[in-house]
Amino acid sequence: METILLNDSNSQLEKAAEFIKNGEIVGIPTETVYGLGADASNEDAVKRIFEAKGRPTDNPLIVHLSDFSYAKEYTKNIPELAYRLADRFCPGPLTMVLPKNEKIPMVTSGGLDTVGIRVPSHPVMKKIIELSGCPIAAPSANTSGYPSPTSAEHVMRDMSGKIAAVVDGGQSEFGVESTVIAIENENSVRILRPGYITREMLLEVCGEVIIDHAILHELEAGQKASSPGMKYKHYSPKADIIMVESSIDDFISYVGGNISEGTYCLIFDGDEKNFPYKFLTYGRDSVQQAHWIFQRLRELDDIGAKKVYVRAPSAEGVGLAVYNRLIRAAGFEVIRI
Ligand code: AMP
Ligand code: MG
Repeated sequence: METILLNDSNSQLEKAAEFIKNGEIVGIPTETVYGLGADASNEDAVKRIFEAKGRPTDNPLIVHLSDFSYAKEYTKNIPELAYRLADRFCPGPLTMVLPKNEKIPMVTSGGLDTVGIRVPSHPVMKKIIELSGCPIAAPSANTSGYPSPTSAEHVMRDMSGKIAAVVDGGQSEFGVESTVIAIENENSVRILRPGYITREMLLEVCGEVIIDHAILHELEAGQKASSPGMKYKHYSPKADIIMVESSIDDFISYVGGNISEGTYCLIFDGDEKNFPYKFLTYGRDSVQQAHWIFQRLRELDDIGAKKVYVRAPSAEGVGLAVYNRLIRAAGFEVIRI
């Protein structure tokens, strides 16, 4: 199959929507990362998303709608808190896990009786949902296990020949995937996957926000994941990633004692003065680090890095999302000094 590159003009977005209506898969920009979109109610189309990504079939897909008012068409028993959260955070990078109805096939929800619902704010994604008239199932548009894509070029690299088209909407703004939450009761939510919407922001709407244990800890054998994606090695480039949680001086000494051919460092902007080893930087604060992290992990493969020491980010606010992605990319290998 030839994968065509579309731009974000109206006529090209109509083409993208036609593909989706016909059961094809399209790479679509969103404000978080690029998604691999197909009609969420079309079982065959959804199966092909799993095949294109090489994604385990029990890892559920998020369903994207143009407005939260459509959520009741695909879910049931929506708690009042979900509407309060939607008023504050939709459209935007928040996914709410809700009980699904029969319009969402089991392949889409990875065999679960719940479905993650998100209302993206990116105008291209919103327009394609409206033009196709479909709820759009869209996981991140990377090969399963590899860093998520934040540009059309990343999607082309992973998916060329496997999907109908990619819409180029420029670089993704936030750079990490949506915050996924489950609603525990009328005043409490649990973060299953951290993202751009932080615990502090959620606390503006509900009284309690629980951070799921699996966000920062490896699941033990036989332990059930409340978010199935958390049980797989993820976000990982070909290079071996090692996180080092320390001051910049201790980081430099540690790397010095462990350096070998093909070693690179991923450090903060501001660390680079007199830095003695090969490096890339990934931003100065958590918001910048979220924006750059996946791009940099892919670049490290492009330049042939074999081993990468990453200066561990802060795990506060948006930083929790960056820390969560990196700790998985590192297979939970963290050096604390
Ligand atoms: P991705 O599609 O790559 O953005 O990953 C989506 C992630 O959201 C999955 O790996 C799950 O961890 C989580 N997720 C989606 N739907 C559900 C659900 N129904 N219940 C729990 N977690 C979900
Ligand atoms: Mg993903």
